[in-house]
This record gives sequence, structure tokens and C-alpha cells, in this order.
Amino acid sequence: MAFEGLSERLQSVMSKIRGKGKVTEADVKEMMREVRLALLEADVNFKVVKDFVKRVSERAVGQEVLKSLTPGQQVIKVVKEELTELMGGEQSKIAVASRPPTVIMMVGLQGAGKTTTTGKLANLLRKRYNRNPMLVAADIYRPAAIKQLETLGKQLNMPVFSLGDQVSPVEIAKQAIEKAKEEHYDYVLIDTAGRLHIDETLMDELKQMKEIAKPDEIFLVVDAMTGQDAVNVAQSFHEQLGITGVILTKLDGDTRGGAALSIRAVTNTPIKFVGMGEKLDALEPFHPERMASRILGMGDVLTLIEKAQAAVDEEKAKELEQKMRTATFTLDDFLEQLGQVRKLGPLDEILKMIPGFHKIKGLNNLQIDEKQISRVEAIIRSMTKEEKMHPEIINGSRKKRIAKGSGTSVQEVNRLLKQFDEMKKMMKMMTNMPKGKKKGFKFP
Ligand code: GDP
Repeated sequence: MAFEGLSERLQSVMSKIRGKGKVTEADVKEMMREVRLALLEADVNFKVVKDFVKRVSERAVGQEVLKSLTPGQQVIKVVKEELTELMGGEQSKIAVASRPPTVIMMVGLQGAGKTTTTGKLANLLRKRYNRNPMLVAADIYRPAAIKQLETLGKQLNMPVFSLGDQVSPVEIAKQAIEKAKEEHYDYVLIDTAGRLHIDETLMDELKQMKEIAKPDEIFLVVDAMTGQDAVNVAQSFHEQLGITGVILTKLDGDTRGGAALSIRAVTNTPIKFVGMGEKLDALEPFHPERMASRILGMGDVLTLIEKAQAAVDEEKAKELEQKMRTATFTLDDFLEQLGQVRKLGPLDEILKMIPGFHKIKGLNNLQIDEKQISRVEAIIRSMTKEEKMHPEIINGSRKKRIAKGSGTSVQEVNRLLKQFDEMKKMMKMMTNMPKGKKKGFKFP
């Protein structure tokens, strides 16, 4: 999970200072000693940690804290603001060319997730920003890369420009941009060649492509899990090629967070997007403030709302609500609802976006068993249409058949049917309740 270790450490440091009515210099010193250790353990660049600690310490013993009525909370506010600043302050938006198409070169070392991210970015551009992108397969050295991009294009139902692996990448880029102009694509995403290490040939080729393609953005894709290596790669690429932004992949598996916290300060280039999973919709615009909030356990409601808006089909939601009201909610509808929740992403990541969630006793170590949800889905899928509409007809032999078909047990089928039955009863209660009472009704 992203930032797990750092998040826990910082939250425990902050909880000690939160309620303090008076904050002394010694308190700040003690707190900053722990913050410093937490950041170093998270693999944040040494110099970045030093500067960060200095800035927070200065502000934390300054007037803004001393004069405040709640100094403990004020110190936390300072930490959050400086953490936000460290990651770039404002969100850094993607460029839009004044004359389309906007050309984006995707660069990076092999395995960082460049090709996958090219697909994800195109998907995001279309879904969130209503754009019409074209993908360009210019990674001619890794034979599978062209195929991989073509497969992504098919999945997304998006055009992929390719001239095979015998034409030079620069020529491919040139022709692709021409074609995008003719056919009115507004974004061109060029998947360039990766290498295992940075070498001169790679850089020369990328420089040539930059010269010809005149990109509006050069995004470097780096793997967050490689920590300070990612920072070094970013620095090298920036010095030699000049990048306009970083896309940090695999943040979902990065428990430390060192790269995310150091890249901006070391290279002076912003993180523009972060990859949070392998699926094509697992790419998020990077918001420094929201990320700081997540790290400090303050939740991230805005991202949660955006995710829900993107994932939940409004028409369907209305339909489901109507069914709940009229108590005609079937197992099929339940399945649909599970699917919608799932589209939001891994559940433990989602729960972390709810402010204060970590403070609820017994829930901070909650392991959400995604497999359990898959089993429930499998059980419902193994039912006939009739059974889903009228679960009361499911007798012993039907239960056996369903359990077998879904690879589960009769007990599990029973449990689901019981839960569903209770859910329906609850819905009935809500619909039959007089209006005044319904208002205060809390779902258990
Ligand atoms: P390339 O060599 O840089 O083009 O790398 P690929 O696009 O082939 O990706 C390498 C691997 O990383 C693939 O298995 C991807 O599914 C995986 N990957 C890419 N981005 C993410 C991410 O944000 N999270 C996770 N968990 N895996 C990712």
C-alpha cells in the first residue's frame, strides 16, 4: 500500500503534538527528530530531509504557532503545508497546444511501466478531459512493445500508429504527427524506446525525436518502488533531455514513498500523474495537497468523489435507488452494485481516503478481503435468472449446484442468501418508515 510505513510513523508523531495547548521549542525539536527519522526511513533524499526539517522547525517555533489558540494543531498544519510544498505545491496540469495536436513523448527505462502508462494516459485524456488521442508505437527495439501498445489500443478502442520495427523512431513520430493533423486527433502520445540503462544512443535518439516532434510535454515514467534510483534516473533524464514532468508508476506497491517525496525537490520537475495499479483506469492526476493529506491520515475526499463520479453510472445509480425504494432490488442488482464499488479501485486504498478512518479503533488494521467479494460475485453469477429474481426458490439441491458452480461451499451460499434477505428487510423498513424517522436512520 502506498506510503504505509511513513504514514503510520508521521501519524503517531503528530498524535503526540495534536492536543497540546502549549508547544515549546523542546517539543518541536523532539517532534522533528522523529519526523527526520521517519523521512529517512522512507528513503527520502538526505538533503531534501534536511531542508524540510529546517523549514518546518523554523515555522513551528515562530509567531504563527505561538500566537495560535491551538498550537498543537497549528504545527500539524505547518507540516502539511511544507509536505505539500515539497511535492510541488499546486497541481501541475497537462499542456494543451494552441494548435492541435498536443504532442507528448513518453520516455523511460524498460520495465518502469512506460507502455502501460501510455495507454492509461490516453484513457484518462479521453475519459476525464474529453480528448481524442492517438497512440504511436515508436519503441522499435523491444519487439513486444509494439504489440503491447496495439493490444492496449484495441482494449481502449483507440487508434495506434505503427510502421513496424524497420523504420526509425524519428520517422515514425514525424509521420504520426502528420496523420494526427489530417485526422484531427488532439493528442499524440509517442511510446519511445526504453533501455535497461541510460546510454548515449538512447539519449541521442530521444534528442533527435525531440528536435523533430517538438513535443509539448516530455513525460518521464519512473517506478516509485525503486526509490532513490528513480530520483537519479529522473535527474539524468532531466539534465540530458529536459523533461517537463514525471509520471510515477506502481505507487500502489510503494510502502515507503521516498521517490514521490524527493523527485520534485531534487529535479525541479513536477510529478504530473501517478500509477496506482495495473488496470487501465489506475492513473490519477497528482495533487500534492491531497497526497500530503493522505500521508498524514487526513483523508482525501476530493479524489474519492472524483473517482465515484467517473466510476458510477448516474442513470444506473438512480435506477438502483428506485429499486431499493420499491423493494424490488434483486441479487442481480446487488451484483451490479458490487461491481460499481469495485470500479473505484482497491478497497483498502479507497478507505484511506476517508478522513479519520484510521482513527476508528479496530479498523486501522482492517484487511479488506477482496477475494471474499469475488466469491460473492461468483455465487450470484452461478445462479439462474429465476433464482436471482426469486431467491426463495433456492432449495438444498439448488444450493449444492450453485456452490459447485462457483467453487464455494453451501455454507457460503447460505450466508449470502441470509445477508441478502436481511438487506431486503432493512430496505423495506426504510421505505415503510414515516418520513420524519427516516431522516435519522443510520445504516448499521
Ligand atoms: P515498459 O517496459 O516501461 O514499457 O513497462 P510496461 O508498460 O510493460 O510495464 C511493466 C509492468 O509494470 C507491467 O506488468 C505493468 O502491468 C506494470 N505496471 C505499470 N504501471 C503500474 C502501476 O501503476 N502499478 C502496478 N502495480 N503495476 C504497474
